Amino acid sequence: MTALCNDLTTLSRINSDFISRDRQMLIGGAWVDSSAGATFAVRDPSSGKELTRVQKASVQDVDAAVVAARKALEGKAWGEARPAERERLLLRLADLLEKHADDIAELESLDNGKPISQATGLDVPLSVNFVRYMAGFATKIHGRTFDVSVPYAPDTRFFAYTRREPVGVVGAIIPWNMPLLMAVWKLAPALAAGCTVILKPASDTPLTALRIGELVLEAGFPEGVVNVITGAGGEIGDAMVSHPGIDKIAFTGSTSVGKAIARSGVDTMKRISLELGGKSPVIVLDDADLAATIPGIILGIFANCGQVCSAGSRLYIQRGIYDRLMAALGDAAKSIKVGPGLDPATQMGPMVSAGQQRSVQAYIEAGVAEGAELVVGGGQLASEGFYVSPTIFANTDHSMSIVREEIFGPVLAVQCFDDEAEAVKLANDTPYGLASSIYSTNVNRIQRLTPAIKAGTVWVNCHNIFDAALPFGGYKESGIGREMGEEAVGLYSEIKSVCMAVG
Ligand code: NAD
Repeated sequence: MTALCNDLTTLSRINSDFISRDRQMLIGGAWVDSSAGATFAVRDPSSGKELTRVQKASVQDVDAAVVAARKALEGKAWGEARPAERERLLLRLADLLEKHADDIAELESLDNGKPISQATGLDVPLSVNFVRYMAGFATKIHGRTFDVSVPYAPDTRFFAYTRREPVGVVGAIIPWNMPLLMAVWKLAPALAAGCTVILKPASDTPLTALRIGELVLEAGFPEGVVNVITGAGGEIGDAMVSHPGIDKIAFTGSTSVGKAIARSGVDTMKRISLELGGKSPVIVLDDADLAATIPGIILGIFANCGQVCSAGSRLYIQRGIYDRLMAALGDAAKSIKVGPGLDPATQMGPMVSAGQQRSVQAYIEAGVAEGAELVVGGGQLASEGFYVSPTIFANTDHSMSIVREEIFGPVLAVQCFDDEAEAVKLANDTPYGLASSIYSTNVNRIQRLTPAIKAGTVWVNCHNIFDAALPFGGYKESGIGREMGEEAVGLYSEIKSVCMAVG
């Protein structure tokens, strides 16, 4: 029953050392234990076995992190650091991430279960690239000048301008599916804007956030600028959201927790940005180039074991090509090599946790019970790890939970449509609006569909393509705000208007 386990004897020395002792938290530039003296286990998703233990922070630890972050915000070393200094430190952090790329990819794969090929080829380079991109903004944040009219003061002249100032202490709360990338999506724009940060990774995957903490210190960021605390979301995450000393919450996670955060954050009028769940539609028109479409659909749903907020989990195929495409997708799904993340041949790893495995399995059982046709997969693999096989359902409809709800696993729900109007109606029939994709070779059809789809991203002839320059975020219940691109910097700054009467 252990054939699908990672071989931990092959770990790099740096990672063996990293997991060989309980990890501490980073508060005010020092590595500290939880004030409650509690720890919790981090597990290897390929075996379910304990890898290491991390601190279970208490509410008092949140207070300590807030004090440290506030002190750094108002202190000379960071509060008065020139933009070029913030840029230099971020570039240094990017260099360190790049220097340790292989070790960090290995740690990410070990912690989350994702294939090492994906951690090495996607998560780490995208993170390095993003930190470099955001570093450049530190020196390019600027206000504007205005020629104002002030109709009730006709005899006075004014000089008016805006300044962009850091929003303050940021509480960054991130999920477990892309732990490294989600951490830098928050850290880099916040630091470029001059904020200080308290980063709380998900309990299932705290390791790369703690490793980033080490690199932040090595890069030379002043103490307290970045703090990393680990613990239960319902306890310390909640304490961060209600804390009067935190000015902004940057959250990525489920829509249900995002809604709770938005409600609670209002009490202290926090700035809040939310990157939430999705149920992204994939539309394949009958003129699509199927050779390019098949890998796009397969990666769109099965990459990272379907644990991607923008996973293309609802597939709509135009009737004329339905049978041909379904046969090819079935073959492609069956050929996916499922295995432990650290095996270089693995294409799909285990789910992150036993809880996530149970949740996905329950959706698969619901799909069968609701009358969908199970074409491929549907089972747990015989292993102690948290595996679910790549699964495709045909003959689905919008009354089924597997079509309506975010599964966050390797489960594709397929149905066919007759014309473009029906495709748009089906694609938009969801409370979510994070992403979507269209496969077609006809530019006129693509241009008709693109504006009609209510989603923050429309990919054309591809899916899950990310770039530091491209804003990413949701319509509808998929969130508020855009990460990446210039828009992300705006999430971490306040605009101050200055109006000066001149003689
Ligand atoms: P989750 O909402 O359960 O947890 C996310 C984070 O919030 C974790 O750090 C958790 O500890 C913390 N948390 C939990 N309860 C909290 C509370 N009451 N107050 C404050 N913090 C709390 O989500 P998850 O299961 O870790 O991640 C999966 C979800 O994240 C999916 O819905 C997925 O779509 C979404 N996601 C969205 C994006 C995006 O960019 N839109 C990216 C990745 C993941």
